[in-house]
Amino acid sequence: MPLNERHRLFSSFFATSLLCATALIPLIPAKAQAIGFYGNQSDIQWKTAGTEHFQFIYPAEYSEHAAAVSAYAEAVYDSVVSRYRIDLPGRVNVSLNNALYSNGNAVPSENSVHLWLTNWDFKVRSSHGWISDVVTHEFSHLVSIESGSKILPNIYGFQVGYSDYYNERTTTDFLSLFPFTLQPLWLAEGTAQYESSRMGFDSWDTHRDMLLRVAALNDDLLSLEYMHNFSSNSLYAELGPYNQGFSLVRYISKHYGETAVPKIWSELSRFHRVTLDAAIEKVLGLSEKELYNAWKKEITEQYQAQKDSLGTLVEGTKLTEDAFWQDFPIVAGKHIYGISNFGGDWFDGGIFKMPLGDETRDERRETPPRSLTA
Ligand SMILES: [Zn+2]
Repeated sequence: MPLNERHRLFSSFFATSLLCATALIPLIPAKAQAIGFYGNQSDIQWKTAGTEHFQFIYPAEYSEHAAAVSAYAEAVYDSVVSRYRIDLPGRVNVSLNNALYSNGNAVPSENSVHLWLTNWDFKVRSSHGWISDVVTHEFSHLVSIESGSKILPNIYGFQVGYSDYYNERTTTDFLSLFPFTLQPLWLAEGTAQYESSRMGFDSWDTHRDMLLRVAALNDDLLSLEYMHNFSSNSLYAELGPYNQGFSLVRYISKHYGETAVPKIWSELSRFHRVTLDAAIEKVLGLSEKELYNAWKKEITEQYQAQKDSLGTLVEGTKLTEDAFWQDFPIVAGKHIYGISNFGGDWFDGGIFKMPLGDETRDERRETPPRSLTA
């Protein structure tokens, strides 16, 4: 094969790519991209204002919101930074937005967080103050991930690529990224929720406990591998990195001390440390899988004892088959109306109308309310 028919590409460069540690992005259906995240939005009159550790960028009409955000941000700064024992590269940039779908994300490579101001009131977590939580959650992402960076957090990794395939019967491709920042999802999200709960802005609430209890008692906990991924199903995405991640981080702090989680992040910053498994082995003295198994055993035994203490289980009658989200029920005449996801993968629904037959009414009358959430 003549050399001029071949094309070789070899590249190596330091990537400075943007990496987001999102709070809730996987829970947004695809159509959410149509909301105003953004475009140019040239009609917005942006203002900036700084405090000792943060620089805020916000629409002028949200000046009062910015003041509240800055108060929370400065209030939690010392506690979070001192736990992870790092100096941030400068004042943290905080942009504020408002949109129907609320969210937050942290961008360690830019030392920035982006926050949305409206409470999403997410259905599988209990009620809590949105702004205080999202500020602390995203700032904790920023600090923990930067504390785990092997060099400057704005240099994300080292990428090497090779391709050789023009006019070839056999093709060769090679592309690899050696990350300088590791952020396993269950540890990242568990850490952010745990730090916010330390401040009293988030908590291990009854909704989270219900999801974990049902999964544990039905032997349906997501595997460790799923805790490293956002699932394409919003309930599993919530159960994996968020719910099980939060519970596992709480387990680590309970059994190995308050400083164990920051130590794991710090261990990830060592240049030769390329897996979370090895970092956990070094700090806690057992593998990630052994940690998972010990946590699973403990919570399953606790929930089983809790269930046994309640005596005979009283169960209700399930009126639908596939849907995991139904909300805003209203009984009118001989029908019940509400919102359902009709078995879809998201918290994304339409209106349903269901007849209330005699059998249904009888079951409802005989079923104690607590069994509806067992
Ligand atoms: Zn998050």
